Amino acid sequence: MLSAFIVILLSVGVMGYVLYPLIFKREEKPSWTNSSSTVSYSLRELQRKKENIYLAIKELDFDYKMGKLSEGDYQQLRQQLKADATLILQQIDELEKNQYGESLEDQIEKEILAFRKKKKARSQIPASEVTLEVKCPNCHRLLAAQDKFCSECGTRVQFNCQNCGQTYMTTYKFCPNCGNKLVSSL
Ligand SMILES: [Zn+2]
Ligand SMILES: [Zn+2]
Repeated sequence: MLSAFIVILLSVGVMGYVLYPLIFKREEKPSWTNSSSTVSYSLRELQRKKENIYLAIKELDFDYKMGKLSEGDYQQLRQQLKADATLILQQIDELEKNQYGESLEDQIEKEILAFRKKKKARSQIPASEVTLEVKCPNCHRLLAAQDKFCSECGTRVQFNCQNCGQTYMTTYKFCPNCGNKLVSSL
């Protein structure tokens, strides 16, 4: 009876001794959790590479529009860049699984477009699209910076300073360049 008790005690002790490191090892962070940072790093790297390619494609498109490239060169270079982008996208897909459900080709074109829009938004707005807080004195239409005449009623809205030649809008009271007092009549 006593020996049975001792055997049980011993086996509990042995089990505890065996299980203890197993249980507590599990609570330690396994070494592979650290690898997630490497994954996100290379993902970032890939995204950066991809952006560079899109930038190159954008510049290529621009050069082509400017007539700096022949149709043949342009198509060849663009295909090459897109092939590079495809490779990178494939790697990115492997890392974060493709949630897009569309072909890589579509995805690339879409992302080029989005990239271009993003860059455009950051670059300067052309003067023709700048609307001033200046209204036509005749019909009160809002005028754009380059308007010489009101596009609604034809009233002349831009003049030149008689002192320095600086152009000014009809409502200006003083020349923004030389401070000359202005008269908005011909
Ligand atoms: Zn007008
Ligand atoms: Zn002036």
